[in-house]
Order: sequence, then C-alpha cells, then structure tokens
Amino acid sequence: MTSIRFLGAAGTVTGSRYLLDTGRARVLVEAGLFQGRKELRLRNRAPWPFDPESLDAAVLTHAHIDHTGALPLLVRDGFRGRTHCTPATRDLCGLLLPDSGRLQEEEARYANRKGFSKHAPNAQPLYGEEDALAALPRLSPLPYGERREIAPGVTVRFHRAGHILGSATAEVEAAGDGRPLRILFGGDLGRYGAPILPDPEPGLPVDALLVESTYAGKRHPEGSPAEGLQAEVERAVTTRGVLLVPSFAIGRTQEILFDVRELERTGAIPELPVYVDSPMAVDATPIYLAHREDHDQEMARRLAAGEDPLRPARLAFVRSPEQSKALNGVRGPCLILSASGMATGGRILHHLVHRLPDPSTTVLLVGYQAEGTRGWSLQNGAPTVRIHGQDVPVRARVATLSGFSAHADEAELSRWLATFPAPPRRTFLVHGEPSALAAAKVRMDLLGWPAQVPHHLEELTLA
Ligand code: ZN
Repeated sequence: MTSIRFLGAAGTVTGSRYLLDTGRARVLVEAGLFQGRKELRLRNRAPWPFDPESLDAAVLTHAHIDHTGALPLLVRDGFRGRTHCTPATRDLCGLLLPDSGRLQEEEARYANRKGFSKHAPNAQPLYGEEDALAALPRLSPLPYGERREIAPGVTVRFHRAGHILGSATAEVEAAGDGRPLRILFGGDLGRYGAPILPDPEPGLPVDALLVESTYAGKRHPEGSPAEGLQAEVERAVTTRGVLLVPSFAIGRTQEILFDVRELERTGAIPELPVYVDSPMAVDATPIYLAHREDHDQEMARRLAAGEDPLRPARLAFVRSPEQSKALNGVRGPCLILSASGMATGGRILHHLVHRLPDPSTTVLLVGYQAEGTRGWSLQNGAPTVRIHGQDVPVRARVATLSGFSAHADEAELSRWLATFPAPPRRTFLVHGEPSALAAAKVRMDLLGWPAQVPHHLEELTLA
C-alpha cells in the first residue's frame, strides 16, 4: 500500500513537506519551513511525525526556504539519506540554508536580549548555521530529465518548472507493495514568457498530481513589468531621484537586472548607475549565469553571443558593510537594489532610514508585501515606519510594480493543467491560502477534474 501524508503546505502556503510511504521505502518530498503567523511557525518546533532515521531519501523541487528550510533540522534529527535536487537548487541551497541558520540565531539572540520570550527566557534558535552547513553535503544533484533510483522501488526525474533557477516538478515512480504509481509533485509553478527561465514543461500521464494554488483564482496584471520599470527609471532621470528597490536576493533581483539591461540595450532608458547591495544577491547572480540548463532561448542566445544579460552598463555589486554605508552619499538618478524584499531585515533597512525622509527618493516595491511587514506599511501609505527602534518619516514617494511574480496565476495554472494528456486519477490542491484553494477547487470541478484539498497531517492511500 502506498500512502502520502501532507505534513505541510496543506491549507496554507508555507511548510511544504509530503511523506511518501510505499511499504518498502519512505521518501520525504520537500522539507520546508513554515513561515508567517506564529501558530504556523510553531509547527517548525513540533517533533517530526515520523522517525527521520527511517527515511530512505528526500527530494527538493527548488531552493526557496518554505520548501527546503527544514532540511537542517531533518539531518540534525537523524536523517542519514541523500537529498535529491537539481544542480542549481543545490547551489542556491548553499546560500539560502546557512543564511536561514544565521537568521534563526539572530532572532534567538534578539529575543533573549529584549526579554520577549518570558516563557522561554533562553530562546534557542530553531537551528544554526552549523546545522545548515552539515546538511549541505547530503544534497545530491540530479540533472533535469534523468531518472534515478533514490530508494528501493522509488525513482525520481525532474522537469523544468520556470519558477526560480533550478526549480522543478518532481516525477516520482513508486513501486511498493501495491501497484506501481507515478506521482507528479508540482512544486511551485512559474510564469509563461518570463525572462531568463524557460516556461514550465508540459504535464505527463500520472496517477496522482500535487499542484500549487498560491494565485489560484487571481490574475496578474496584463503587460510586462519592464514597461512599468521603464516609466519609473524615466521619472528618476527627470527628477534626479534615487530608485530604492527592496528586492528578494534570489530571482527578483536577477529579473530586474535583466530588464534594466534590456531597456538600456534597446535605448528605452539611459545607462544609469545600478547598485546591488545584498551579499546574497551578489553571490546568487553568478549562479544564475552559470546554470545554462535553466535558461530560456533568449538568455542562452545572449550568453552565446558573449553578452552578460544580467549586467547593466553601470552595475556595481556592493559586498562590504562599509561600501553599503557609502551608498548613503550617492545621488540620483540611480537604482539601489537591496534585500530583503519586504523590508523585514537586511541592508535595505539602513537605506530606508536614510532615504525615506527624502522626497526625491522613490521606494519601488516589486514583490508581494505580506501584511504586517514594513513593505506592506509603506505600500499602504504609513506616514512613518519603525526601523531600529526609531520612527522614520515617509516623505519619499512609494510606488508598486505589481507585474513581477514567480508564481503562475489562474490563467497560467489552467494553461499548465491543459497540457496533461488526461486528468490524473487523484489531484491534490496544496500551497495556497484557504480562499485560493477554494477557488482552485471550483476550477477543477468546472474542468470535471477530480481534485481534493488535503488537511494538515492528513494521510491518504494512493494505491
Ligand atoms: Zn517557491
């Protein structure tokens, strides 16, 4: 009997973890951290509902922390098998997981210093940088399209998902005690026609499918975000202002660099200084260039012609804290890209302290801003935001470019589903807030496509 247990991203967006048990082998697909509300984050501290030592293998669809961030815990708690992922996912995990460990350590130190955790005066990090570093050698890269046996009777093969560099859907074949099954773990699905990455690969004949629902029922704005970016750059040039862009270090930053370079190349905008002030973005950019198996035709063509499509003419990577502080003296027009994308931490904070009181600055929001974050406050017109214990007045202009997204919207999800030769026998709708999952269920019902929304910790028999 083969079963699947939904240990995360069931009824919510984060914490992707699915336990596949064939009777002969146990494989964990995804090892994500829960993020957001406290009740979700507390799940990260709950004991594993299985013995990590009993796992044969793990599989990761892509490097985002809500799909990989619990791997250090799994290894610390006794998992001794290999973790299979694409080569680019392995490289990006090498940046993201140690960073996640450092953040956990910082948060614990902060909580102890501030006496936040009355109930646990010695707040312990969920895990530390050392735990993350110990997990990295267990990552075992598997190129797209190659099939590998990862546990007795279980094979995996990756297909491109177009979400971030290295992202994949994971096709798992499981021959256990029962009938052999083919299951497609959809991971996170990217956009069609996005720069740098290829479109999601078409669906396959499978017995069971897990499909994300982050933007189910929603449409991304029409038109390319590059047009909005062009208008903002033109405005900055006219007003001699600074465009300050809180940006995710991996994915979004590279996409913006691509667009700026492209706008410059076609003469749509003048060449202006672009500063990337995020050590992780600085490290991730060469990884984006190196993994040619992840590039779309346009990106491949540019690279083959000897161009660097991620390098605007006047690009400067800023690595040291001193260089970062020195940017305070820089005048517009220019672009400063810095993390984090929702202004919850990182170097963007000191730029905001310095630039928010300045009316010549535009803070350009280019990603989703979760409720309660500083980015969200700015987006919603807050007159001040609190940073490092001080209320900083917002005199800068705040603008949102909403076209950037790494996730398929409703039309794109439907387009991908239409590439399947037939609806699988079972489809599980995961990785969405309850309202999005409900919208996804309505769509599947209209398509006459059997689908269900699993509950957290629910275990279902597949065959
Ligand atoms: Zn993702």
